[in-house]
This record gives sequence, structure tokens and C-alpha cells, in this order.
Amino acid sequence: MPDRAPQPVDRQLPTDEARDLISLVRDIAQREIAPSAAEEEDAGRFPREVFTLLSDSGLLGLPYDAEFGGGEQPYEVYLQVLEELAAARLTVGLGVSVHTLASYALAAHGTKEQQAEHLPAMLGGGLLGAYCLSEPTSGSDAASLRTKAVRENGGDWVITGTKAWITHGGIADFYTVMARTGEDGPRGITAFLVPGDAEGLSPAVPEKKMGLKGSPTAQLHLDGVRVPDTRRLGDEGQGFAIALSALDSGRLGIAACAIGVAQAALDAAVSYATERRQFGKPIADFQGLRFMLADMATQIEAGRALYLTAARLRDAGLPFAKQAAMAKLHCTDTAMRVTTDAVQILGGYGYTADFPAERYMREAKVLQIVEGTNQIQRMVIARHLAGPEER
Ligand SMILES: Cc1cc2nc3c(=O)[nH]c(=O)nc-3n(C[C@H](O)[C@H](O)[C@H](O)COP(=O)(O)OP(=O)(O)OC[C@H]3O[C@@H](n4cnc5c(N)ncnc54)[C@H](O)[C@@H]3O)c2cc1C
Repeated sequence: MPDRAPQPVDRQLPTDEARDLISLVRDIAQREIAPSAAEEEDAGRFPREVFTLLSDSGLLGLPYDAEFGGGEQPYEVYLQVLEELAAARLTVGLGVSVHTLASYALAAHGTKEQQAEHLPAMLGGGLLGAYCLSEPTSGSDAASLRTKAVRENGGDWVITGTKAWITHGGIADFYTVMARTGEDGPRGITAFLVPGDAEGLSPAVPEKKMGLKGSPTAQLHLDGVRVPDTRRLGDEGQGFAIALSALDSGRLGIAACAIGVAQAALDAAVSYATERRQFGKPIADFQGLRFMLADMATQIEAGRALYLTAARLRDAGLPFAKQAAMAKLHCTDTAMRVTTDAVQILGGYGYTADFPAERYMREAKVLQIVEGTNQIQRMVIARHLAGPEER
């Protein structure tokens, strides 16, 4: 049974320019990304040419300043772009979100000279970025990372260690790497911009994952990787704070991607339920399924409203970390529930690769894990409510 074309989402957009942008993205998503998504995910193929197209179309630096090649779009618009891309293929939506995350340290904390030298190529020159915080022994407890950067006689930094779970590991053109330059804990960490072809940098074989197979996730070994001090981003010891503030925004990207996947699953479920007949009528006529569809749609709208609230706070220069954690938690849990229900609505066919519902369900799962698991989001939210835990 063919997929029905997805229904346009009722979006609140601030300007006509934003409306045109969303329709350009929908066009690219439906023409260039969605048709090959299932096959390429199955084959584990990363669509590099799509990222080149997005870069050429000005879509890889949307939330950053125009001065260095960004699109200067508010977060509320950028996130809705991500949602459209993720609905077509999560590997692309999440890839753009990770690229934006990887560009953050330089865009927000680099010097003018560093920004002028590197940002134009990162935001619109076809380069692809990766963000390197996690390590084999430090995931949720990211401040315990062990990768070391040692400065040689006041000259270059030499970085040694292993990063884990790196999205775009092995194919990125630049890596934003958090490494230990001082004391144990969060205050001894510094951020560096490492070129993808640096000597001593080598990726492991990508992980074999449950879903999101087109997006390479790999360990990255740094064996004496040498970078000049001009590639240090922010002050020494400021790297963890930079990494966390990047994640506040990155989590909104994950929330938007989750709503994109959930919307795609709802569209597939509605399409199937209105065509499939049992007991002499479309299964969408049975109240049991109608109510499931209504609940799915309601949860999606609530998730979209929550990530947009956080984005609008951010756009207004107000604190948004609590709402970003809530949006990540709620939207990714919503994606898990909605995609699971979509499989149920498709019955036996939902469990086969002939329909996209099972892929959406596998993809939704990873969104509850990346950029801080949903347990960690609850810890962040609770800290805003009740203060830090006693040690
Ligand atoms: C596909 C994929 C892509 C990724 N991409 C990147 C990337 O580009 N860059 C990057 O740096 N990282 C990346 N990650 C890593 C990701 O951020 C981590 O997997 C995540 O932060 C969890 O860390 P962990 O896997 O080590 O789990 P752990 O931290 O070992 O956690 C295991 C379990 O314990 C729970 N837990 C841990 N501490 C607590 C606590 N205090 N209270 C309650 N529960 C707790 C967790 O929620 C989880 O359920 C990626 C991961 C995946 C799977």
C-alpha cells in the first residue's frame, strides 16, 4: 500500500520569509530526501550529497549570525526546519542538529579572528561537523572525561584519548573536542576545534545500531593529535560550560527531530487506517483506533508547543534550559509512544520493513538516549525546581 503524502502541519511562523523557508525545506525533504530514505537506511548509507545540497541552500548555518555565513533565523524557525527534515529522514534532521551543535563553541565563544577564519566554511562551505564529549567510560557523567590535552612549552596542544558514540565520526570535516587540560571534574576541561584530517585522528568501525543506520556513529581515537592554541575555543577550563550550553540548544534540536519522526508515524498511521478495511469498513472507523489517532495527534501538538515555548524564550534572550530539558524529555517520549502506536495501527504490516512505521519506532528509541538520556533530563528539571542534590 503506497504512503500517502504527509499533511502540511499547521505552523505558527513569525514572518513570510520563514513561511517561504519552510516550504523550500518541505520541497527538498519530499523530493530529495524521503524517496530514498527507507532503502538507504536499510543499506546504512550516509547521504553526504544531501548535506552538500543543504549547505548550498543555506540550511546548515540557519541559527547563526549572517556576518559569518549563517542564516540569522530565530530558533523557533530553525527547529521547525529540523522537524521537516527529520520527518523525511532522521539521519538528515539529526545530522543538521549535530552539525549546529558542533559549530556552537566557535560561533558563541570563538574570537573574531577564529570565527572569520573557520565559520564561513562551517556554516555554508559544505563542511560537516561532529561534537565530541562522550567517552567509553563517561556518558551521563560527562565531566569525568579522560581525554587529555597537554600544552607543549607554551606552543601546540597535544590531544590523546578516545571519544565514543561520535555522530559523523570518521566522515566529519571538523570535530569540536572536549579534553582535560587541568584538574579533575568540570572545571578542568577545555574545548578545541580539530580538523577532520589531523594527523593521529582515527575513527573505529562504526557501531552496528538498531536504527539511524545511515548516520555513522563511531569511536574516535586521538593519538597525539597536535593543534595550535588558535584552535582552542574559549578559555582554558571553560570547555565543560561551553559543552553544556551547546547541549541546552542541542536538546531543542533533538526535541524537534522527535516531533518530526512522530508526525511522520502519525501520517503513516492515518494513511493506513483510512485505506485498510476490516469487518466491511475502514479500520479508521473503529472508535478504538480513532481515539488512538486523536491521542497521537494531541501529544504531537503538545510536544511542538513545548519545544516552541523553549525556543521563543531562547530567541528572547531569556533562560530556557529548564524548558529545553522538558521539551527533550516530553517530545522524545512522545515519539516513542506515537511510533509504537503507529506500528500497532498497521497490524502485522506495521511489523514489516514494507512500511516505515517500524523504522520510525527504532529511530524514536535513540532520541530518548542522545544528548542526555531522559533520566538526565529529569535530573536537570528537578535541579531547577529543588536545587542541586546533596553530595
Ligand atoms: C546513536 C548515538 C549517537 C550519539 N552521538 C553522540 C555525539 O555525537 N557526541 C557525543 O559526545 N555523544 C554522542 N552520543 C552519546 C550519548 O550522548 C550517550 O550515549 C548518553 O549521554 C548516555 O551515556 P551512556 O551511553 O554512556 O550511558 P550511561 O551514562 O552509562 O547510562 C546508562 C543508563 O544509566 C542511566 N543513568 C546514568 N546516570 C544516572 C543518574 N544519575 N540517575 C538516573 N539514571 C542514570 C542512564 O539514563 C542510562 O539509562 C551518542 C549516542 C548514540 C546512541
